[in-house]
Amino acid sequence: RSGLSKTRAQINETAGFMGNDVKDVFNNRLDTIEDLEYALIAADVGRAATEEILEDVRRSEGKNMQQALMDALTLQLEPNASRAEFRKLGFAPQASRVSVQPNGHVIMVIGVNGVGKTTTIAKLGQYYMGRGNSVMFAAGDTFRAAAGAQLGEWGDRLGVPVVQGTDGGDPAAVAYDAATARAARGTDLLFVDTAGRLHNKHNLMEELKKVRRVIEKADPGEPAEVWLVLDAVTGQNGLQQAKKFHESTPLTGVIVTKLDGTAKGGILIPIVRELGVPIKFIGVGESAGDLQPFDSQEFVRALFD
Ligand code: GDP
Repeated sequence: RSGLSKTRAQINETAGFMGNDVKDVFNNRLDTIEDLEYALIAADVGRAATEEILEDVRRSEGKNMQQALMDALTLQLEPNASRAEFRKLGFAPQASRVSVQPNGHVIMVIGVNGVGKTTTIAKLGQYYMGRGNSVMFAAGDTFRAAAGAQLGEWGDRLGVPVVQGTDGGDPAAVAYDAATARAARGTDLLFVDTAGRLHNKHNLMEELKKVRRVIEKADPGEPAEVWLVLDAVTGQNGLQQAKKFHESTPLTGVIVTKLDGTAKGGILIPIVRELGVPIKFIGVGESAGDLQPFDSQEFVRALFD
């Protein structure tokens, strides 16, 4: 089985992925615009995007309804500027996969506890090694007791060196050591795990800023990538958190996990729209291979298979 057909199968196992209602509209079991509107809202697509989708579908009346809906959804997953441009021109983009090759060598991975951050770092390691890159991890979540050990186990399993700190130690020190070591060894990519405790948001945000600063200090001239991991299951709440992170440590990419579960995939639309940051990958399971570069067309097609 190829990676993509595996993603499709995993997504399809959950009929509620986009909400059965949207599927019903698609399959002509429901046929009014109101049905579609209700279904999109229920699928977490959000008010503003729903209005645009309805407008696009109405405008294409007489054409193939299924194709019109797929095009409208695909468009909603485009970056804001090109979405506006394509809607003006009245057609959907052809090639839509974003570049996943990191800018620079260091990628900070942030997000709240439990979203799948540590697992995602392992998956990223496997993905980029598979593309011929050398990889290192930094266990920068010194706050959650088991986090360093968990990343260490993944490192052993995948053959990835892990720079560890001490539990309760300074995460910026771990990031500094790791970024220095990466530069010295000439390793292609360093993924830095970070804390995700939410009960002290202010301190967490300050800590993340500091981690970012020391990475850039240890490895001058390297703009660190900042990828946020979001759990699709948390829907709109997750998006509010994402905005807070984006305000303090500007994001360069988003990874949405747990799309193999009962999550509503519709949440990807407000993520793209409201953060204005590209979705790089989606997580579709718990093992190291369950990560797919995000492709909006493939994703929308999978919703209706
Ligand atoms: P962290 O606290 O953000 O570092 O989260 P973890 O990496 O420890 O993951 C929390 C739980 O989510 C673990 O049980 C993971 O196996 C699980 N998980 C992570 N990504 C995915 C995914 O894409 N799909 C599913 N089903 N589970 C996931």
